[in-house]
Amino acid sequence: MERRIVHMDLDSFFVSVECLRDKSLLGKPVIIGGTSDRGVVASCSYEARQFGVHSAMPSRMAKQLCPHAIFVKGDMDTYSKYSADVTAIIREAAPVVEKASIDEHYLDVTGMDQYIKHSMLFTHELRERITKETGLPISYGLSINKTVSKIATNEAKPNGERQIDTGFEKPFLAPLSIRKIPGIGDKTYALLRNMGVEKVQTIQQMPIELMGRVLGESGQVLWKKANGIDNSPVEQYSEQKSMSTETTFDKDTTDINKLKDILIGMVDELAFDLRKARKLTACVTLKLRYSDFQTHTFQSRIPYTAADHVLLEKVLELFRKNYSRRVLIRLIGVKFTNLVSGNHQVDMFDDSEGKIRLYQAMDRIRLRYGDKSIVRAAFIKPPDNEEDDTQRSYK
Ligand SMILES: [Mg+2]
Repeated sequence: MERRIVHMDLDSFFVSVECLRDKSLLGKPVIIGGTSDRGVVASCSYEARQFGVHSAMPSRMAKQLCPHAIFVKGDMDTYSKYSADVTAIIREAAPVVEKASIDEHYLDVTGMDQYIKHSMLFTHELRERITKETGLPISYGLSINKTVSKIATNEAKPNGERQIDTGFEKPFLAPLSIRKIPGIGDKTYALLRNMGVEKVQTIQQMPIELMGRVLGESGQVLWKKANGIDNSPVEQYSEQKSMSTETTFDKDTTDINKLKDILIGMVDELAFDLRKARKLTACVTLKLRYSDFQTHTFQSRIPYTAADHVLLEKVLELFRKNYSRRVLIRLIGVKFTNLVSGNHQVDMFDDSEGKIRLYQAMDRIRLRYGDKSIVRAAFIKPPDNEEDDTQRSYK
């Protein structure tokens, strides 16, 4: 059966939420992000985009481009709640749903109805329902696969919908800039532009082998996307995906400082893995197993983040609240769940560009020299730990 895949994406999500809270922002150039001179743009309204402002740009530059823009400090807590509301509405309506990021979902509606116009009608009504119930504008694209639908959404924005009929994927993509292909990075874009490749059509006309020779494996993936080929499935259980690590002690312990140090090290490593995978988490779990083999887990929902200092505070808070130091501990573990794709800096409204740069620099060193090359001053693994068994896992 022919696949019917929907991509839904909330329009300038953070800005739309702020407009719900303050109607006077509607229709104005609004920038969400660091309000200090060293801050970074996390999101901006369409009115601000017309001045060349875009996310991840230093706020200083955004101010120069659009001096009359209204700057709003972001609030990830509220955005996470709205995001959960939208996810709940979509989950209730569609059979297979993947939450791809805080404001994006993929739906597999294959076979829901015999005719394509029915899946369009279904998605149209779902879009209206989301806007009616949450007040947030949302756009979608509908086609035979994720890549084409995502590009269709971007062409439909803002507050629009676009359907690409089966067999019309290539002509739809052909006139678009290669910039519009999801996942094309600055480097690849520059390289292809230097080769004189500007429109998707040019890639469509190149042999796949040539793209492979120029860009390796990623060139072949890019060629397939440019030709509207993408067999990747909608992954229904993405929210159950997790990253976790745990340590079983060689000798049970009540040493609170040792336990805290280990937690700090675990959060550091997992948060790094999270950023490396370009993910954010919305739930942290602490696991404790006592010497009598009783195991307890303690969970806390948090706004989407990948920042060490935010995650660490939560994990240590769970530990403080739930561990009474008289009981011997046999195993300790940390798990991040409710993972979605997302750029680390979107949750760092309060933080300076300097702090974001520090994170990026630390992560670069770790990527180059290994996980253990940078550790917090508080976390220096005691030598008596060496026989403890630590296991990290991704699911
Ligand atoms: Mg969006």
